[in-house]
Formats: sequence, structure tokens, C-alpha cells
Amino acid sequence: MLMKKERELIVEYGKKMLASGLTRGTGGNLSIYDHESELMAISPSGIPYEQTNIEDIVVMNLDGMIVEGTKTPSSEHAMHAIVYKHRKDVGGMIHVHSTFATTVSCLNEELPAIDYLVAFAKGKSVKCAPYASFGTPELAENAVKTMGDQNAVLLSNHGMNCVAHNLQTAFAIAEQLEFCAELYVRARAIGTPVILPGDEMDRMLVRFANYGQK
Ligand SMILES: [Zn+2]
Repeated sequence: MLMKKERELIVEYGKKMLASGLTRGTGGNLSIYDHESELMAISPSGIPYEQTNIEDIVVMNLDGMIVEGTKTPSSEHAMHAIVYKHRKDVGGMIHVHSTFATTVSCLNEELPAIDYLVAFAKGKSVKCAPYASFGTPELAENAVKTMGDQNAVLLSNHGMNCVAHNLQTAFAIAEQLEFCAELYVRARAIGTPVILPGDEMDRMLVRFANYGQK
């Protein structure tokens, strides 16, 4: 079996994604890329996370060909593959439909530095990619272009993508940014949020640059 360890992590983090409220139902998807073998392991389409086994994980190349697996891959596999094509520093990605990040995305606005934790995104804000239908090459293009060299991007009226050198860190970033999005939505509901100044965020970006276990 190809990428057994990676498959196990995807099964484990799929359950975590659901338990943490980062997504619901079969929404969202996760992947791990091995830059050496140039293979991507990705969650299957439409199988509940509680019922997903390592056999259900699909191994693909970045051209969208299934290398191993009998299930249909996530409908967003192209949105994952295009990130690994562009980013040599990325080894794991999570796409979620979390409530507060998606709420901000419904304004088609970026998530500003409401809290220093926004620096997890490797930028002073999390930008918002223009809308395109789910599963389309247009959405994949919009997401990767808008994210640039940052670690996260909102998808207009849809959700959020987070990336990192591994899946564990991508998941941790998603949790922190969802918390920031919740603060922002709640703060806007009761007043005008104070956004952290750029020089403070510059310091936070330096502090966060080496975040996570290598
Ligand atoms: Zn989605």
C-alpha cells in the first residue's frame, strides 16, 4: 500500500476536523503531498469521516491521475494539487467549511489582524479569493493565486484553505484562524474592531516564522 502513514494521518485528522467543528457532514477535505515520490494522498469524496478507512484514501499524482485507490477522490483534488505544484514548502493542506471563517468569506472581505494569531497565516491578514463553483479549475486557480506565499486563504461564500509543511500544522493553523474569525465576527457585531498595527504584526510574523515541529 502506497503512503500508508500519510493515509493514517488523513483518517485521523478527518475525524479531528469534524470533532473540532471545523467542518460538518462530509464537507471539507485533507491531503498530504510527498515531494520525493510526487504523490498526493487525499480524502475520498462523500464518505463520512467517522467511516473513512485508510483503504478509502486516494493516492494521486498532481496531474489528477489516480495511482492507487478504488474510491473517487475529493471533488477539490485539483485545488490541493495546484498548491503542491506551486509551493515546495507545503506538505499538507486542509480545506474546511468552518462557520466563522466562512461567515467572513461571505462578505468577500479579508480577515484582518484582529488578534496576533492571524500571523499563523504568514501574513498580516488572510485574503479572500474570488468566488468560483466548488470543484472547478477556476476555484483552484483563484485560491492558489490569492494565497500566494501565505499559509491560508478564504474562499468567497465557501470556506477556508490552510497549508503548512505538514498536515498537523495545517490543521493547527485552521483551528487558530477559525478562532480569529470568530473574534472578528463577534467584534463587528458589537462595534468597530481595533485591528493590530502593521509594525506589531511584522514582529509577530518573525515570531511565528518558525512555528510548528520540524
Ligand atoms: Zn468546500
